[in-house]
Amino acid sequence: MRVPPLVVGGAAFIAALPLLLALPHLTGTGVSGWLQQAGQATGIAGTSCLLLAAVLSVRIPGLDTRLGGLTAVWRLHHLLGAAAFLLLMAHPLLLALSAAAVSPQASMSVLWPPLEDTKVWAGWVALLAMMIYLAPSFWFFGRPDYQRWKYLHLLSGVALILGLWHAVELNRALPGIGGTLLWTGFGALAVAAFAYRVVLSRWLGPYRYRVAAVTPLARDVVEIALTPEARPIRYNAGQFIYLRHFDPALRPGYGEEHPYTIASSPLDEQVRIGIKALGDASAAMARISEGAPVTVEGPYGRFFPEGGADTGQLWIGGGIGITPFVSRARHLKAGQAACDVHLVYCANRPERAYYSDQLRDIADTMPGFSFHMHYFNDQGPLSLQYLRSVCEDFDQRSIFICGPGPMTDHILRLMREAGVRRHRIHTEEFDLL
Ligand SMILES: Cc1cc2nc3c(=O)[nH]c(=O)nc-3n(C[C@H](O)[C@H](O)[C@H](O)COP(=O)(O)OP(=O)(O)OC[C@H]3O[C@@H](n4cnc5c(N)ncnc54)[C@H](O)[C@@H]3O)c2cc1C
Repeated sequence: MRVPPLVVGGAAFIAALPLLLALPHLTGTGVSGWLQQAGQATGIAGTSCLLLAAVLSVRIPGLDTRLGGLTAVWRLHHLLGAAAFLLLMAHPLLLALSAAAVSPQASMSVLWPPLEDTKVWAGWVALLAMMIYLAPSFWFFGRPDYQRWKYLHLLSGVALILGLWHAVELNRALPGIGGTLLWTGFGALAVAAFAYRVVLSRWLGPYRYRVAAVTPLARDVVEIALTPEARPIRYNAGQFIYLRHFDPALRPGYGEEHPYTIASSPLDEQVRIGIKALGDASAAMARISEGAPVTVEGPYGRFFPEGGADTGQLWIGGGIGITPFVSRARHLKAGQAACDVHLVYCANRPERAYYSDQLRDIADTMPGFSFHMHYFNDQGPLSLQYLRSVCEDFDQRSIFICGPGPMTDHILRLMREAGVRRHRIHTEEFDLL
């Protein structure tokens, strides 16, 4: 999922705004003066990246679709978080280097200020909190445990509040009421977003459902049907939800939120999701009791843009990445909508081709909907020759891809080779880290 250029531009402008306003006040000459200006600039830019990253974590259903979908928003959030971390690490180092021109003691007192200098210490504690919660995101620490990573992320609240206090109190580059108002307004938005995500959304956001049925689809893959307890969620095909289960008989994943794509048609009364066991929580869903209460938060994402499927589309799904296509195919069938779709489903072997019978039935009864099974074990990786053999004009179509990362990368390479313009390709990832 690519972040739309307009959203990247807007985010860059908002993050840079405090720095742009501060520029006229950043003065100083000589190497020491330049270092001091750079130190102030990195502090201001780092703080605004941190605040904007917090604002983007709000995850209000519907808001993300205006920004390109939640996966695009998360990508932007990660980029801003990394930028904030690097800028805020550079901030004290540049100020200490600038002070070194005065004396080594002055430099040391930037790095290790007197204990009573609480405003400066607030900045250091904020930085330490950032190091703790961001470190697991860096690749050299290996793949983090998602739930531990999420709990550590709660420290971002500490970084946010202390960082903000530090910025407002030591606000030399953005002087006067304007500077205070800017940081306070920006900070209030960030703190409100954090509070909504961590506390309020648990009560305001979710829809209450109960498990109606658990149907095995293949080894380690089940479909769960959910019936609404009160008002049902409204969604578009291809969107996903955050699901929490509260089955007292099931410890793994109890109360944890996990994202799953909805596989049912938006016209269905029940919400259905196809779940593949990838870890403790997803594996446990195969054992969830019928009647168990669950909550559903969302919907999120914008895999399929608005409009029909009658304009020439190629869908390529791999493994459990078939679920958004199952939802859309079921929806087209339920509404008897006109369509011009070729669906290629990539699986390793026939036993792993869950949903294929239903998709073939839809293809048999829906004019304009073609279904092609591709088995990796027999046919090898997907090739341009194969795509041309099942869908001659594939390079003229809008292309939708959802599957494991290596499969998506491989298909994107093929599409580049075939000269397909990037804006015609839509991808969805089942990995937010
Ligand atoms: C947009 C989206 C749509 C998805 N749709 C489906 C679907 O239709 N069917 C399906 O089977 N799976 C889907 N997934 C994947 C599913 O969310 C993970 O398999 C599940 O959360 C794994 O949790 P676990 O505790 O079993 O495994 P773990 O071993 O804890 O995690 C395995 C991997 O899943 C990811 N993950 C774990 N927990 C979360 C979480 N709370 N939020 C985000 N990512 C997490 C992490 O990258 C982790 O490395 C989707 C994921 C995303 C992001």
